[in-house]
Amino acid sequence: MSDIIIGIDLGTTNSEVAILKEGKVTVIPDREGRKILPSFVGIGEHGDVLVGEPAHNQYILYPERTVKSIKRHMGEDLRVELAGQHFSPQEISAIILKRLKATAEDYLGRSVQKAVITVPAYFSDAQRQATREAGEIAGLDVVRIINEPTAAALAYEAKTGTRKRILVYDLGGGTFDVSVVSIEDDVVEVLASHGNNRLGGDDFDARIVDHLVEHIKREHDFDITESRQIMARINRAAESAKRTLSDQPFVRIDEEYLFEKEGTPIHLSLELSRYEYEQMIAGYIDETLEAVHIALRGANLTASDIDEILLVGGSTRTPVVSERLFGELRKEPHRNIDPDLCVAMGAAVQAGVIAGESVSAVLVDITPYTYGTSAIAELDGELYPYVYVPIIRKNTPLPVSKTEAFYTSFDGQQEVDVRIYQGEAPDALNNIEIGEFRVKGLRKVPAGNTVTVSLDLDLNGILHVSAREKDTGLSKSITINNAIARFQGEEMGAAKARIDALFGPAAGAETLVEGAASERHHTEVKARALVEKAERLLEKASEEDREDMIDLIEDIRDGIAAGDLQAVETAVERLADILYYLDT
Ligand code: AMP
Repeated sequence: MSDIIIGIDLGTTNSEVAILKEGKVTVIPDREGRKILPSFVGIGEHGDVLVGEPAHNQYILYPERTVKSIKRHMGEDLRVELAGQHFSPQEISAIILKRLKATAEDYLGRSVQKAVITVPAYFSDAQRQATREAGEIAGLDVVRIINEPTAAALAYEAKTGTRKRILVYDLGGGTFDVSVVSIEDDVVEVLASHGNNRLGGDDFDARIVDHLVEHIKREHDFDITESRQIMARINRAAESAKRTLSDQPFVRIDEEYLFEKEGTPIHLSLELSRYEYEQMIAGYIDETLEAVHIALRGANLTASDIDEILLVGGSTRTPVVSERLFGELRKEPHRNIDPDLCVAMGAAVQAGVIAGESVSAVLVDITPYTYGTSAIAELDGELYPYVYVPIIRKNTPLPVSKTEAFYTSFDGQQEVDVRIYQGEAPDALNNIEIGEFRVKGLRKVPAGNTVTVSLDLDLNGILHVSAREKDTGLSKSITINNAIARFQGEEMGAAKARIDALFGPAAGAETLVEGAASERHHTEVKARALVEKAERLLEKASEEDREDMIDLIEDIRDGIAAGDLQAVETAVERLADILYYLDT
């Protein structure tokens, strides 16, 4: 039997193990299905060794019996105390590695002896040596140590013949690194690296914790920082709120019976918006962007020399991270591999190559299109009712669930139309409308009433859309089946036709049919939107215009029913002219 080599991401906050088999990378789950092992080691109440989640759970209550972030001490000559016993950093890391080895063996049903382990690009020889030793203590032959940004680049670009320069932005729980990596043929090289190994998602949690502590002080004149138990709950609540804000514009933080004051139980219930949270962490994000420029200078490159931006580390799920990176480098970061798992996946690719496995692109399930809705906003300097607002971006791993906030545009507005589009164009009408519905009965309040729109897209391509008036919870939803398959089919048809065309004229007709089908759909969507707008403006129109408008609306409907594209287009053009003057 050939040697199996596993790939391990031994992280400061979390660790993972993966393998490459038959060209496919799998991140190995434990028996409970968890792919991520928190890098925590502890001794339980009965002297048992705890690794991962149970050690993480006891950390805040029993820090004297728990070790976290041991990676920060790799290569140092020190001992950490754990329930009265002393351990070297290598030994603590070995406990984590041993667990990952066991998880892999359990999954594969055979013993595993060899591993590739990743380390940060800035690790010194002593730190790398300590990592090797940790592997040996765990019973693993460490066949290679590779740099984390190299692994990330391998996960994304398992096989390319081309030359690429990749910026790897890695923001984890407690560390931040940015590296410029060059891939040329089979050589992957880190050109420059910069970072701060004391900056990460834990700092973001701490900002929310500060906010909650202040809130409780203000509301109840009570300092919770004195109590470990309360702070443990607040820390958990803050981290969970932070994660929610990556997908939702608001989060409610509810902690019941937090403490008692003069015999009365005190509950915490506070709403935090993504906007407030982004203000709290803005300084940290600025710091990471400065590091990006330092790394670029170190590699003697400018932003325009970078071909790809890869996001690594759980904290890059915070939307403002990619927004600011895009603003700074004018390039959309890649999001098509889970940022928590891509280093382990790259380690597995490297392991597979060493073991002689053939490697092709690492496949993941991602959405091939962007999905979003439309809103009144500025487009090319003018107010336009159909500005596309992407909610789920192209290349996001599936399943995914995202929510954005919208606001009513006039006083007393009791209805909103929610249209869902698939596509990338800034003008929603140039995308494909895949569903729509109307929410009625909103409160009669001034403009600015918040309505959230949520999109859930699962692995089967089923898109669930819901809109909800934030203050009352009034909501409406629809389900769109085959949101992906339908259009993949179309794309596939086009690709097939392209290939078929190479072999003879018969297939050419198919291209036309495909093209015509989508053009018709497009014209119809535009026409329907225009008809709706015309109907809204009928009251405003003069009697003469109104008659013309009604005739044209009828022409459009008849044209659609008869499939007469030309007639629809002619009527649309004339109706658009009338509306233009009415609107201005
Ligand atoms: P890592 O060290 O790469 O495993 O990243 C762990 C960090 O990512 C922790 O600070 C997590 O709180 C953070 N994280 C995980 N998921 C999310 C999310 N959805 N949004 C924001 N931060 C996240």
